[in-house]
Amino acid sequence: MQWLLDLDGVVWTLDTPIEGSVEAIARLLDLGHSVRFVTNNSSLSRIQYVDKLTRFGVPVTRDQILTSAMAAATLVKARERVLAIGERGLVEELVAAGVDLVLPTRLEDAEDVDAVVLGWYRQFSYSDMSNACVAIRSGARFIATNADPTYPLERLVVPGTGALVAAVVTSTKAQPVFAGKPEEPMVQLLRPLLTEETIMVGDRLSTDGRFAARLGVEFGLVHSGVREEHDPDIPVSLQGNSLAAVVEQKVG
Ligand SMILES: [Mg+2]
Repeated sequence: MQWLLDLDGVVWTLDTPIEGSVEAIARLLDLGHSVRFVTNNSSLSRIQYVDKLTRFGVPVTRDQILTSAMAAATLVKARERVLAIGERGLVEELVAAGVDLVLPTRLEDAEDVDAVVLGWYRQFSYSDMSNACVAIRSGARFIATNADPTYPLERLVVPGTGALVAAVVTSTKAQPVFAGKPEEPMVQLLRPLLTEETIMVGDRLSTDGRFAARLGVEFGLVHSGVREEHDPDIPVSLQGNSLAAVVEQKVG
C-alpha cells in the first residue's frame, strides 16, 4: 500500500528523528510499500528534504516529497510579480513556477505586486509585514502556504505560519487562500498520485486528519507531535504514540 507521511511531529521534531520512525519507514520499504512525504512546512526545498531524510537513513527521491510551497506555486502564474515571504523551500518553488520575485527596497515597491505568498519564515520582520500589508491593500492576492498555528519542538512549541498570517490579516482585513493540507491546492497535488490503498499518517487532526478525509483515504494519528483535541467530525482509522506504533498496527 501507499503511505503518505507528514514530517514534523511524525518523522522528526526539527532536527531529531522521532524514536523508531526511521526503522518503521525502512520496514515499510522492505515490505514493498511505497512512501511519500507530505508536509505543510515550506522552509526547506525538496532537495533539502531529500538530503535531510537521507542523512537520517531514509532513502528518498525528490518526487516523493510534496510541500505546501509546491501547492502554493500552483496558485501563481509565470511572469506574475510575486512578493515571497518565506524560506528557501518557498522561494525555489515560486521561481520554478516562473514568477518574477519582487524584492522591495522601499514600501512603494510593494504597491505593484500581483500576489503575496507567505510561508513559515523564521526571520519574519516588521518590514515583511509592512510590505505584505501595502501589497494586499493595493490589490495583490494573498496566498499562504498553511494555517498551522504552531510548530512543535521536542519539549516546547513555537509559532507556525498561521501566526504570521494572523499579523497580515490583522493589518489588511484580507483572508488568504491557503495552499497546504487540508486545502484544495494540496488535495489537487495528491489526487493523481493516490492508489487504491493509501493511508495518511500525521500528528494534527485539523490538517492531516481533515486532509485524509478530503482525499478519501485512511488516517493514522500519531501522538508524537502536536496534540489536538479530539474532533468527532474527523475519522481516525488507527492511532498510536508514534509512526512505529501505527506501522506495527497496520502491517503487524
Ligand atoms: Mg505534523
